[in-house]
Amino acid sequence: MNLVLLGPPGAGKGTQAARLAEQYQIPKISTGEILREVAQKPDALGVRVGEYINHGLMVPDDIILELVWRQLEQGAAQAGFVLDGFPRTMAQAEALDRFLSRRSNTDSPGVETLDAVLDLEVDEDELIRRLSGRRVCSKCGASYHLVSRPPREDQRCDRDGAVLEQRKDDQPEAIRERLKLYHQRTEPVLDYYRAKGLLHQVEGDREMGQVARQIEQILEQRSQSSGAGSRVSVETSHGDTDQTESRPPGTDH
Ligand code: ADP
Repeated sequence: MNLVLLGPPGAGKGTQAARLAEQYQIPKISTGEILREVAQKPDALGVRVGEYINHGLMVPDDIILELVWRQLEQGAAQAGFVLDGFPRTMAQAEALDRFLSRRSNTDSPGVETLDAVLDLEVDEDELIRRLSGRRVCSKCGASYHLVSRPPREDQRCDRDGAVLEQRKDDQPEAIRERLKLYHQRTEPVLDYYRAKGLLHQVEGDREMGQVARQIEQILEQRSQSSGAGSRVSVETSHGDTDQTESRPPGTDH
C-alpha cells in the first residue's frame, strides 16, 4: 500500500499516518518529524533547516528529496509506505513519480505508482485554534492542546513529566506563513492527484476516530474496485501511463 496524506498544517496528518502505518505494517515517513530531527543537530544542514522550519517556510526541494529517498530506499519501505507531509510542492510530486517508476520491478511490465492520496480537509479557523493551542513534550514529543487535550499537570507531559513547549512554527506569524504556502504551493499538488484519479477527500474536522473510519472506508472501497494490492500502471507506447492493471497484495517486490 503506497499512501500519501496531504492537508493543511494542523489537519491531523501525523495522527492518521501513525495509525495507517500500524494497520498496514508499513513505515510512516513524516518529513516534518525528519526535519525537526535534522534541525536538532548543530551542523550546517541542521542550522539551515532549523531556520526554514522555525519561520514556517518550506525547506528547499533538493534537501527534502534526498531525505525522503533515503527513507524510501530502506528495505521496510519496499512493501509500501505512508508519506505524511510530502509531496507538498509540484516539483516534489513529479520527483516522487519518477522515483517510483525507477524503483519498479524491472522484471514486470508495470510501473509502481501511488495507491491513494488522502486529503484531510479542515476549516481555517479550526486549524488556527488547533495549532495555536498545541503544546508538545520536550522529551517524547507527545502532543497536547491547552483546551481540548490539556495535560493532567499544568505544562507537564502525562507520560514522563517533562515540560511542554510550543513549537516555534506554531506561533501566529509562522502559522500564517504555513497556511499561505499551503494554498500557494500544495493546492496545485491536490489538483495534480485529482486529475490522476488518486485524490480522496477526508473530513478532517471530525473526531479522530471518525476520521480514521472514513479513511478505512475509502481504502476498502478502493481495494474492492481495483482488486486490491499496489496500483500498477502499464506504460503505453507513447510513454503515457494507463492505470488499468493491479497486482494482488504481496506480489509487488
Ligand atoms: P505541518 O504540516 O503541520 O506544517 P509538519 O510537521 O509536517 O507540519 O512540517 C513542519 C515544517 O517542516 C513545515 O512548516 C516546513 O517548514 C517543513 N516541511 C515539512 N515537509 C516539507 C516538505 N515536503 N517540503 C518542504 N518543507 C517541508
